[in-house]
Amino acid sequence: MRPEILNPLFASVEGFKGVGARYAKLLSNLCGGLRVVDMLWHLPASLIDRTYAVPLKVAETGRIWTGKIKITEHIVPPTRKQPYRVLAEAEDGTELTLNFFKWYPDSLKRSLPQGAFRAVSGKLEIFNGRLQMNHPDYIVSPDVLENLKAVEPVYPLCAGISNKLLTHLSAQALERVPNLPEWLDPHFQAEQNFPSFAEALKKAHRPQKSADLWPDSAPRRRLAYDELLAGQLALAIARERVKKQAGRVLAGDGHLRRALLENLGFELTGAQQRVLKEIATDMAAPERMQRLLQGDVGSGKTVVAFMSMLNAVECGTQAALMAPTEILASQHFETLSAWAKPLGVNVALLTGSVKGKARAALLADLAQGKINVLVGTHALFTEAVTFQDLSFVVIDEQHRFGVNQRLGLSDKGYKTDILVMTATPIPRTLVLTQYGDMEYSKIDELPKGRLPVDTRVVPLSKTDEVVAGLKRKIEKGCQAYWVCPLVEETEKTDLAAAVARYESLQQIFGEGEVGLVHGKMKDKEKDAVMERFKNGDIKLLVATTVIEVGVNVPKATVMIIEHAEHFGLAQLHQLRGRIKRGYEASTCILLYGYPLSQTSRERLNIMKQSEDGFLIAEKDLELRGGGEILGTRQSGFDNFRLAQLPQHKDLLFAAHKDAELVLNMDKNLQTPRGQALRILLYLFDRDTTVRTYKAG
Ligand code: ADP
Ligand code: MG
Repeated sequence: MRPEILNPLFASVEGFKGVGARYAKLLSNLCGGLRVVDMLWHLPASLIDRTYAVPLKVAETGRIWTGKIKITEHIVPPTRKQPYRVLAEAEDGTELTLNFFKWYPDSLKRSLPQGAFRAVSGKLEIFNGRLQMNHPDYIVSPDVLENLKAVEPVYPLCAGISNKLLTHLSAQALERVPNLPEWLDPHFQAEQNFPSFAEALKKAHRPQKSADLWPDSAPRRRLAYDELLAGQLALAIARERVKKQAGRVLAGDGHLRRALLENLGFELTGAQQRVLKEIATDMAAPERMQRLLQGDVGSGKTVVAFMSMLNAVECGTQAALMAPTEILASQHFETLSAWAKPLGVNVALLTGSVKGKARAALLADLAQGKINVLVGTHALFTEAVTFQDLSFVVIDEQHRFGVNQRLGLSDKGYKTDILVMTATPIPRTLVLTQYGDMEYSKIDELPKGRLPVDTRVVPLSKTDEVVAGLKRKIEKGCQAYWVCPLVEETEKTDLAAAVARYESLQQIFGEGEVGLVHGKMKDKEKDAVMERFKNGDIKLLVATTVIEVGVNVPKATVMIIEHAEHFGLAQLHQLRGRIKRGYEASTCILLYGYPLSQTSRERLNIMKQSEDGFLIAEKDLELRGGGEILGTRQSGFDNFRLAQLPQHKDLLFAAHKDAELVLNMDKNLQTPRGQALRILLYLFDRDTTVRTYKAG
């Protein structure tokens, strides 16, 4: 139940003055809802200053001027197409003409009778040497002049909703804000100079100067913090909840893992060892594990995942690895089976294409526990697949599945530990907002001795030279990717460009040597072409970004990215990851076209200078702000109403710490601050968390 004190804020504004049924829909779209809180979260974007009220004689044109005038004469034009002019005189005797391009003579005569005094406010202009004001924003009686000389908020608008309506609504909404108990830590509040919640709202809605609109103003920071804290607290509660769920103790004797390490032919990096320990500790604990494993392309996540799976197998249980596409699943299958064979561990592959008898046999083996490790696509969990005793699941490239599927997985009834593995470097800000309900491990070190990719930034006008260089490489036995951009808006023309490039490269390199994959192809066709590229039948693969994730072709050491300026940084990084072989030299050529924006230029330079995925991801976040990194623009990473990232990054980290501390000291939110925080959770629609919290 929502605390009663919040009721006025959750009422609908439909009954408010000025909000007819006509506006309800528009308003709801604009403000994300029709509740009072939705109006409160809709903050002004700029302001109009009507305090400029100097004598008209010295007033600057181009500014909003507010003052008293006396109406001297009406000049009615001969036709409605010409402006209606009203001559007036300011208090200092300066003449001012009011122009009306849309006019009704009767109403103008009524509102501006000759000889009367009026207060007006509007933009001053000069035309033919005369001071004028076109359609003043306000024409009121002179006794309200003082009220007029104010600063007005300007809200983000949409067609059909006026600023006046929003100002009016926000005023009514602000009146309903109750005095809520303070949920901030008093020291933090003092240190940050944060006003109370109600005060912050008032100040944010009634800016007095443009600095009040900036994200770093104290009221806006306070509100952002409130929102972030509500989110972080909700996630921390969810994290606690997962921990409380009974899991299984998975602590194998290590014999398979030791045997694997002996056969591997390389030493684990320090980061791999540390992360393995973190995972093993979680698996050995009686609670359920939900852990995110991050590591840049080539950092060696697969071996970490497999070692952890072996832990489950050592315990006599089964493990599964879920990949987002068939081709990735079979790639994992190949890697894992090669490692597993000498250990006597049985790995199987289950995808949509395993059919009929083979499928039936596989499912039977799985149910009887003859298969220790199952690799597959999401088919693993969507169909009637029965394990004998599944205890551990690894999900690769999780963002392709979506956060909800991850949660759905845990509902399958298995008490499985879950490890989510992603090669997409996720900046910490996003980890906190997107994966805040999970524990988090990071492989931040690449195996020793890896060679950097030679990355070059080249204008498209030099394509011929690039092709010539490519020809030499291919003659030496290299394989190469040629990536063409696909911008959703003009998919058709983009595709046409990729096809054209494919055809022209065929002419140069020979028809059989060049292949094409793009997103419009069926998975089967795509996989077939990829397979031929992998086997070396095709030397040059023209592709749109479908090759982005995970595909591994050892001989492909050259990548050309056409119109690299159209790609996001994270995307470029992922693409380049495909040719990062480590022990062989590889080359990435970023071809760019003109005009090149400042941001694009910066992006390409960063690519040239760095291969550190985390650094690149942080820069990407700075340059474009979010969602793209996860490849899920629609998933609404950025569904904050008040907080802005990265501007409020420091507050996010602070809120994260704050939430942890609160739960450590006041697990059930019982103290006065805890009670106030419950209100905060409701205020920001995190009440589902509060409810499950109470229940569990
Ligand atoms: P990721 O999945 O993180 O991109 P992989 O697990 O595919 O990386 O590892 C990339 C390559 O590096 C693989 O061939 C793997 O066997 C190898 N590798 C993994 N760990 C190490 C290590 N510590 N030293 C040397 N090579 C390693
Ligand atoms: Mg991998």
